[in-house]
Amino acid sequence: MKEVLVLGAGYAGLKAVRKLQKEAGDFHITLVDRNSYHYEATELHEVASGSQPKEKISYPIREVLDDKKVTFIEDEVTKVDVETKTVTLKHHDALHYDYLVVALGFCSETFGIKGAKENALQMVDIDTAEAIHHHILDQMKRYRETKDKDLLRLLICGAGFTGIELAGAFVDERKRYAEIAGVSPSEIEIVCVEAASRILPMFDDEMMNYALDLLKKLDINLMLGCMIKEIAEGKVLYATEATGEELQSISAGTIVWTTGVSGSPVMGASGFKERRGRVIIASDLRDPDHDDVYIVGDVSAFMDPETNRPYPTTAQIATQMGAHVAKNLAHQLKGEKTEDFVYHSQGTVASVGNTHAFGEAMGNKVKGYPASFVKKMIMNKSLLDIGGLKELLSHGRFDLYH
Ligand code: NAD
Repeated sequence: MKEVLVLGAGYAGLKAVRKLQKEAGDFHITLVDRNSYHYEATELHEVASGSQPKEKISYPIREVLDDKKVTFIEDEVTKVDVETKTVTLKHHDALHYDYLVVALGFCSETFGIKGAKENALQMVDIDTAEAIHHHILDQMKRYRETKDKDLLRLLICGAGFTGIELAGAFVDERKRYAEIAGVSPSEIEIVCVEAASRILPMFDDEMMNYALDLLKKLDINLMLGCMIKEIAEGKVLYATEATGEELQSISAGTIVWTTGVSGSPVMGASGFKERRGRVIIASDLRDPDHDDVYIVGDVSAFMDPETNRPYPTTAQIATQMGAHVAKNLAHQLKGEKTEDFVYHSQGTVASVGNTHAFGEAMGNKVKGYPASFVKKMIMNKSLLDIGGLKELLSHGRFDLYH
């Protein structure tokens, strides 16, 4: 019996297992993840702000596995050895595979910026997202005693999609934070510090201006053209074109780091040909150097034939890759040829709080309430796609009308 080993139960890994477990054949699947649950990484900002409890964006992995076909191991992968076809785990014995799917996901990219790891909060998984929420509540309580206005400032480093979605989720909770601190909501300051002078490079000027107006209307202070150089304790140091090397600073009781992501450090530790934890993969999603190894999701870089650059890492592409891996593994197990992967983008929508959003879906621009509807439907589709009907019904967003 052939052994298929899948590392990571995020969008790509869990989708691959869910699809492959339905295939007939003489094979067994082992799935490894450091957590016992799958979580919707696209919704972490809601746990960080406290808009949703962690249970709303996560579900037990075992709940969606066919235990006749799949063994689940809760452990951390430390290394892949492609020569001996073994994977080392932190607590369990090493595992052997015939076919391997590496889907180990992302970690926060600090670009080596001084103090970013130590002095900014990361938002990369359920634990770190919950830690942000607890931190904010502590700062609000501290304000009652100290009256230090900096404690009321929530500062987000980077205004990419993650930063903007987090800022929007903070806006939704502003009133609650203010009540805890004993101030008016307008005294809770939400700031995004961004290096670029233009945000959202994937959108045209009209959509960008819409986003800028929306952020302004929601009283989010977007500081453009501010390149963060260092994070000291409770303070962000940045350079602007006007002030050059003479660093400016802004203090805040809560500082969250969302300036981009890289693939899991396991890729580098395992000797894959990676850059920032991502491996350029072949057209059928395999490692170009190893026919029995698939690399998908945030640890992979799949070239967009139109731009000749890798597609951005998103939940959407990861899920499609997971489905395609299952198809190709089924082919390989039957001794058939693999198929090339073609990415079908269904668009990109960013939420700004529960009732605002903007972006593009199915080739159409979407804004405002209809966009927030679309965004919730995207999340529901993802739940159905990976978790199935049970997870959709228990975790789906059905608050579609406002
Ligand atoms: P990102 O790389 O898209 O954005 C990071 C932002 O931080 C950029 O605007 C960058 O200019 C800024 N930045 C980097 N270094 C900086 C510095 N030193 N000082 C100040 N600003 C700095 O990262 P992300 O937002 O985490 O997104 C990661 C991926 O996930 C992207 O592909 C994104 O499209 C995707 N994503 C999609 C959604 C969605 O579809 N709704 C939501 C979140 C993330």
